[in-house]
Amino acid sequence: MSKTIIIGDGPAGLSAALLLAKLELDVTVFGIDKTSMHAAMLYNYLGIPEMTGSEYQKIARQQVANFGADLQNKRVTDVEKTDSGFVVTTEDGEQHESKYVVLAEGKGVKLSVGLGLTDAGQDVAVAHAGRTRIDGLYVVGRSTNIKRTLAIISAGQGAAAAIDIASTEFGRDVNDFDSMPKK
Ligand SMILES: Cc1cc2nc3c(=O)[nH]c(=O)nc-3n(C[C@H](O)[C@H](O)[C@H](O)COP(=O)(O)OP(=O)(O)OC[C@H]3O[C@@H](n4cnc5c(N)ncnc54)[C@H](O)[C@@H]3O)c2cc1C
Repeated sequence: MSKTIIIGDGPAGLSAALLLAKLELDVTVFGIDKTSMHAAMLYNYLGIPEMTGSEYQKIARQQVANFGADLQNKRVTDVEKTDSGFVVTTEDGEQHESKYVVLAEGKGVKLSVGLGLTDAGQDVAVAHAGRTRIDGLYVVGRSTNIKRTLAIISAGQGAAAAIDIASTEFGRDVNDFDSMPKK
């Protein structure tokens, strides 16, 4: 069982995955790499003067994989809440269990609609760090504001959800600070 399943492999999902994997929490990402980042040319992402969205995605995926996250190229067809967490069904009919789910499905909010969190084509309303009224289920990224979207906003929201999950798991406030190496 994965501690966290992330559904969506755009900036929001990958950012959540990066932090969870870096904090050595077991994480699986399901995504089909159909993000609109492949149409983007980034000049407005702080710290990156200029980069194609596809290059950003390539680097991000590699970065996440390097920290040990399990990236699976599969579409998720269903998410079900159970007493102990979630059962996530992928297009091949396989079922995967997790304690947390981070939904980062972008502008198509199909799974959120299925969970009763919004209506088709509408934003998903979320609380702090992307929490929803379903315990353990977070919604991050474009799904929360479909018409006002930027990659850096999605990445920030993904990071906030990951820090919230890690803080819950470790029972303390987690920041994931790294320091300069000592000379
Ligand atoms: C033409 C264009 C240009 C843009 N230019 C810029 C720009 O210059 N700067 C900028 O900051 N932003 C730009 N954007 C916006 C940017 O692409 C979005 O802000 C960003 O992609 C949102 O990230 P996200 O992770 O929230 O969602 P997305 O990037 O949409 O990621 C969602 C991912 O989840 C996957 N997914 C969805 N449902 C499932 C499922 N059921 N199972 C598995 N996977 C699933 C999708 O395939 C997708 O890969 C541009 C967008 C477009 C269309």
